[in-house]
Amino acid sequence: MLGNIARKLRLFGFDCKYFATIKDEQLLSIAKNENRTLITRDHTITNVCKKQKISAIDLFSTDEADQVIEIYRKRNLGKCEIDMNNVRCTMCNNAIQPIEKEKIINRIPVGVAQNMQQFWICNSCDRIYWEGTHIRNLQKFISEINEKLRSY
Ligand SMILES: [Zn+2]
Repeated sequence: MLGNIARKLRLFGFDCKYFATIKDEQLLSIAKNENRTLITRDHTITNVCKKQKISAIDLFSTDEADQVIEIYRKRNLGKCEIDMNNVRCTMCNNAIQPIEKEKIINRIPVGVAQNMQQFWICNSCDRIYWEGTHIRNLQKFISEINEKLRSY
């Protein structure tokens, strides 16, 4: 149920695995073996994490912005931002790499090719990224988050 949060965290540069359906034991063993922080709204799992000394963040909010704030606060992550050089693929969590426009020009809309100069590609799933409308729209979401992070 935290798929949207996972995609946002990847845009913010965090290495973030997400499972729509997974058994608790599997989830716990991945967190443990890969030294990850388990983020969940399932408080039964976070209780198990405490016992097994697995890093976990218990989310209480149902609002996306508030959930991001909870994560940033609980781990003192500072300011929320999108730096294209740190972005991870929202689809597959791979780090994205800069790519020359000429190499992907046939795969992007004409308007984008005319207006944008910098592009990135996910070498795993081949998805192309640029600082488009989606990122710009997210800036409002990010400003709200940073506003609230500051006020505490
Ligand atoms: Zn990808």
